[in-house]
Amino acid sequence: PKPLAGRVALVTGAASGIGKAIATRLAAEGACVVIADLDLEKAQAAAAEIGNADVALGVAANVTDEKAIDEAIAAALLQFGGLDLVVNNAGLSISKPLLETTTADWDLQHDVMAKGSFLVSRAAAKVLIDQKLGGDIVYISSKNSIFAGPNNIAYSATKADQAHQVRLLAAELGDHGIRVNGINPDGVVRGSGIFAGGWGAKRAAVYGVPEEELGKYYAQRTLLKREVLPEHVANAVFVLCTSDLDHTTGLHIPVDAGVAAA
Ligand code: NAD
Repeated sequence: PKPLAGRVALVTGAASGIGKAIATRLAAEGACVVIADLDLEKAQAAAAEIGNADVALGVAANVTDEKAIDEAIAAALLQFGGLDLVVNNAGLSISKPLLETTTADWDLQHDVMAKGSFLVSRAAAKVLIDQKLGGDIVYISSKNSIFAGPNNIAYSATKADQAHQVRLLAAELGDHGIRVNGINPDGVVRGSGIFAGGWGAKRAAVYGVPEEELGKYYAQRTLLKREVLPEHVANAVFVLCTSDLDHTTGLHIPVDAGVAAA
């Protein structure tokens, strides 16, 4: 059997970019996947690309909406008979210098990524604890949760919040056999809605490179000189969720092709 056969995954923000690549990989490895995103049609379109109704289901769920999260989890239970893996991937990025970052920017960034992932983890943990079968919660945090750069205060602060949720929940849910780990991607330009939606233009301006060269720019400053794609993040999520890493919790895996120490 495939490594994730019989397991059910919920991936937030999975209609696009990294989340879609994660859902695609988990399904390819045998899992049934619920694709939760803001727009129902886009979520359903992503699900249809991945497989039929026995394998993939698209639902509309804003991660800031507790009722919508409960409904997404209920859909997983109803359609696929359980819940085993939860990936907190939904996100957006407001790239502004400190003095231009409004209170509304700060609140939106934190509502979606810090509060949203807390709400999803809390709702999912309730089900996982009740099932008594353990489970995996994975956060797609960021290299920016650790490293500081300019024009990025609201986004990076909320990624650091997510990183500490990983450690806190690993400590709290370990007794239930629930593992909580994180991934720290960086420079996933191609395929990312965040980069295409304005973040890429702003980053390119900061680095003084044309936007279409941004992926190559990120690649040449990595240790491996490789461009990071959504599929590479999905590979790390898959490995984290296999039984080969079932003694690992509270870990963050960088998927950034290597960052120079200085
Ligand atoms: P993306 O825009 O392609 O994907 C983000 C998805 O989240 C979108 O489909 C969007 O509709 C959805 N979303 C936004 N707000 C939501 C909400 N309130 N409820 C539910 N869904 C919501 O961008 P991406 O680059 O694939 O980003 C995915 C995750 O990876 C984000 O958390 C991002 O911060 C993180 N990340 C990305 C990079 C990168 O280099 N692209 C680096 C580090 C971390």
